[in-house]
Amino acid sequence: MTTRVIYPGTFDPITNGHLDIIKRSAMMFDEIIIAVAASPSKKTLFTLEERVQLIEATIKDLTNVTVQGFFGLLVDFAQQQQANLLVRGLRTTVDFEYEFGLTNMYRKLMPNLESVFLTPSEEYAFLSSTIVREVALHGGSVKEFVPLAVHSALAKKL
Ligand code: ADP
Repeated sequence: MTTRVIYPGTFDPITNGHLDIIKRSAMMFDEIIIAVAASPSKKTLFTLEERVQLIEATIKDLTNVTVQGFFGLLVDFAQQQQANLLVRGLRTTVDFEYEFGLTNMYRKLMPNLESVFLTPSEEYAFLSSTIVREVALHGGSVKEFVPLAVHSALAKKL
């Protein structure tokens, strides 16, 4: 039996912290699907298509990882993909509170959906897409925090 897991998020844009979690998952599970939420309520810097493309460029050497955009409920996407395991990243206690609430809600919506939480290497514990966007918007270099494709895309976009 193959273990197919979903790593969901907004990925606006993907950072080295996300990539750390993806690589750890790729070593633990057979198939990883990165699920990029359309998140219409969030005013994202990158479109859904751009966020998916940036991830595609970043994961091209990871043979058991794929990426897909999705609209609507994550639990519906998980069911479509016949996956009942989610991977989420835990950075600090702030993430813990948020993730705990989210997991309880998912459990109500899809009782057989389980979540596993992975912690990144400590250098990424305080890294977020929001911080990357803010620094880049104000002209700072984020080169060491994001994949190359994202670095170029940010330079073009801003
Ligand atoms: P969301 O909108 O779901 O929070 P994100 O793209 O911000 O989407 O994050 C997706 C997942 O990746 C979440 O589980 C988040 O906690 C995790 N994550 C984000 N940044 C990091 C990081 N630097 N290290 C580890 N996990 C991270």
